[in-house]
Amino acid sequence: RGTRRSPAAANGGGVTRNLNSDTVINLDHGDPTMYESFWRKMGDKCTVVIKGHECLSYFSNIKNPCWFLEPKLEESIKSLHGAVGNAVTDGYSIVVGTGSSQLLQAVLYAVSCDQPNQINVVSPAPYYSSYPEIIDLVRSGLYKWGGDAHGFDKDEPFIELVTSPNNPNGVIRGSVVNRDGGILIHDLAYYWPQYTPITSALDFDIMLFTASKCTGHAGSRIGWALVKDKEVAKKMIKFMEVNTIGVSKESQIRVAKILQVVADGCKRFGSPDGDNFFEFSKSLMSKRWEILRETVKKTRMFTLPKYPLQHCNYTGDVTQAHPAFAWIKCKEGIEDCEKVFRGQNILTRSGRRFGSDPGYVRVSMVSKEEDFDMFIERLSAIQSFNTMAM
Ligand code: PMP
Repeated sequence: RGTRRSPAAANGGGVTRNLNSDTVINLDHGDPTMYESFWRKMGDKCTVVIKGHECLSYFSNIKNPCWFLEPKLEESIKSLHGAVGNAVTDGYSIVVGTGSSQLLQAVLYAVSCDQPNQINVVSPAPYYSSYPEIIDLVRSGLYKWGGDAHGFDKDEPFIELVTSPNNPNGVIRGSVVNRDGGILIHDLAYYWPQYTPITSALDFDIMLFTASKCTGHAGSRIGWALVKDKEVAKKMIKFMEVNTIGVSKESQIRVAKILQVVADGCKRFGSPDGDNFFEFSKSLMSKRWEILRETVKKTRMFTLPKYPLQHCNYTGDVTQAHPAFAWIKCKEGIEDCEKVFRGQNILTRSGRRFGSDPGYVRVSMVSKEEDFDMFIERLSAIQSFNTMAM
């Protein structure tokens, strides 16, 4: 196979790379670079200028218990949830963090610091592979990773991480342990219209969101928590004070601008300006899933999850989920699916990392167009597991 130029690169989708059969395609991480062409098209609409004399103080708003939250970011978070209808913000405290990863640690501290004993944190397999690492890294005395929630039967308090839609498999989830004495943390990183139908405005006690997966601005490292209980919010703010004394103002100001542009544009459908971010991103995701499903069907070597048709309150359509990751299972009793893909120079994440079966892999669906195209080309070339270089 010779080198090639991807269609996306040809239409201004990104930097051109020469991809040949030796090029390793990294679809292990969920690095959300696929929306670049939309943001390029938005030109200067999202440009923010910060002068040398601005943003010097640690403080953003001393009247807010979350004193490091930029008022413009608070405003744009509320407008965006209002426009999309995916979460209630009235009556909630907003806590900003350096990505939702930092907020997860802040929440864990906040809900466990007054417990008499170390508390188990569980999530049902397949769970987001970073959870065990985040939870056990510093071997906190307050909490510890308790593993797969399906197997949790201890008669004691617990924390359950409810990831919905779930990373890695895109499934909508509720609590699995489902009994009293549990504190639920809802990780809603993917509850946006490009990934899943928006079926209601959620109003759970603790909800985590991130700009990373919503708009693709992972590099700005901005996440936010919507927290019902003011005391829990206060303890999260305390964690943030001690951990990083707040969150970069530059990042907050940039993301505030971006979220406001998305919130304003997403109220218009079919606009000739093409400035509805979710219209663009949903159409891109559904095209990728259509191509992936066709390819998988032709090869007959893999299976993909099926998602129910549901009414999306945001678009008004009946639609399927188009998750940020494909949860692929190898057929024919192949035990190590990651190895199959590695043989094709495609890096994926093994099901084992999600507390699940190594017969599965997670593949990022949010990569640059050229990587996605090459992934599909290599996937379609897999006709038999026996004849492949393993
Ligand atoms: N939760 C889930 C389920 C995720 O997939 C991710 C990113 N991969 C995060 C949280 C963390 O995102 P960030 O720290 O970039 O906000």
